[in-house]
Amino acid sequence: MPSIFSRIISRDIPGYIVAEDDNYLAFLDINPLAEGHTLVIPKLEVDYIFDLEDEVLAGLHVFAKKVARGIEKVVPCERIGVTVIGLEVPHAHVHLIPINGVHDMDFSQMKLSFSNEEFAEIAKKIKAAIEEG
Ligand code: AMP
Repeated sequence: MPSIFSRIISRDIPGYIVAEDDNYLAFLDINPLAEGHTLVIPKLEVDYIFDLEDEVLAGLHVFAKKVARGIEKVVPCERIGVTVIGLEVPHAHVHLIPINGVHDMDFSQMKLSFSNEEFAEIAKKIKAAIEEG
């Protein structure tokens, strides 16, 4: 059974995709802590991030850097926080979260909700910012 994230990669289910290359994909988290909260995944389905081969792990972070640069152009924030949890979806992923303080990284706080149109709009802006470089 492919993970929910592999199903986004294969377009079996929709995702608000902001960046993609041969090995990695970035898309908006649907239960975001902040506008622009993005997940970055390797296309290779491995549950635990530290089970990734060194090269794949390094490439994931380099890809995440490019995505973070795009998010920070679109969402006003102090910086982009990076975290790995992985307790819910067994497909390695990095969370990129626009933050202004340490409390903004608190996963126990209420998540934000956006309409499909709002998610699509923010994804479009971040995608454009990433492509601009
Ligand atoms: P964790 O595995 O604990 O890092 O949490 C998984 C994250 O994936 C949570 O923040 C969820 O909101 C997010 N998530 C779960 N399903 C989807 C989906 N279909 N599209 C985007 N984000 C998702």
